[in-house]
Amino acid sequence: MSTPKTITKASSSAKAKKLTSSLVELKNVSKSYGEEWASDNVLKNISVEFPAGELTVIVGPSGCGKSTLVNLLAGFEKPDEGRALIDGKEITGPAKDRMVVFQETALIPWQTTLQNVTFGPKMRGDKKGPSLVREAEDLLIKVGLGEFMNKYPIQLSGGMQRRAELARALINEPTVMIMDEPFRGLDAMSRSLMQEFFLELFDENQKTNIFVTSEIDEAIFLADNLVILSNKPTTVQTVIKIDLPRPRNYKMLTTAKAFKYRRQAMELLHGEALKSFAVLK
Ligand code: ADP
Ligand code: MG
Repeated sequence: MSTPKTITKASSSAKAKKLTSSLVELKNVSKSYGEEWASDNVLKNISVEFPAGELTVIVGPSGCGKSTLVNLLAGFEKPDEGRALIDGKEITGPAKDRMVVFQETALIPWQTTLQNVTFGPKMRGDKKGPSLVREAEDLLIKVGLGEFMNKYPIQLSGGMQRRAELARALINEPTVMIMDEPFRGLDAMSRSLMQEFFLELFDENQKTNIFVTSEIDEAIFLADNLVILSNKPTTVQTVIKIDLPRPRNYKMLTTAKAFKYRRQAMELLHGEALKSFAVLK
């Protein structure tokens, strides 16, 4: 039987976790584009859970519907069938509890890094004045941009721009961070540094993270849970629990366990690719 002390401790940490992260779910979600007579059936009966405080990676081939799925979670689009839920409540539109970072940079070019980070809360009237500026500065220091607060986006490297975008998302104190292939287009070295940096940030904030990629190594390196999508009409092929210890470093990708996950994921994705190849032939 638990002692009262244990109960208090468990409930207070559960409460703390609840404040910073949310459970996100898709239940029997389908989505098509176009008119009924020429409809492109993209997502078909997708059911998947994104556990609170965990990092779930969605991996699938280009064009299979990953960004469509992101748009449903962000509330930019609505499912044709099924439901998208956050903490059991239907997602009805975009909100600051779910922040999205896309692969294309979305920084405002004529604003400095600092102005980009303060812009959202200021416009919405959520936060203002010196305390907002201080909070933005702290976040920029945290993402390693302390020296670049007064630079414009064009003066930042690709990796720095993504870090600025992370700071800009985090200032809204979301419970869910959704990342749509955020490191695509970065050179290999910057990409692996960004992955390590992103994991440090995740270990620290413990938000619910949903990360989309088409790279298997990136997926395995980051994930608690790996959701492998099938070909179009896309459904969930498999969910693999990635049981590698945290904090992680790049050397872990060369361990036997990581290799086993890699082979499993490769085989599943290769099988899917072959199916679409057969359709094309
Ligand atoms: P991914 O992100 O996996 O590359 P997307 O979700 O962008 O895939 O696209 C999946 C499919 O849906 C593609 O065939 C794409 O052409 C189609 N699609 C995506 N968005 C739209 C849209 N707004 N209107 C029509 N078709 C779309
Ligand atoms: Mg996409």
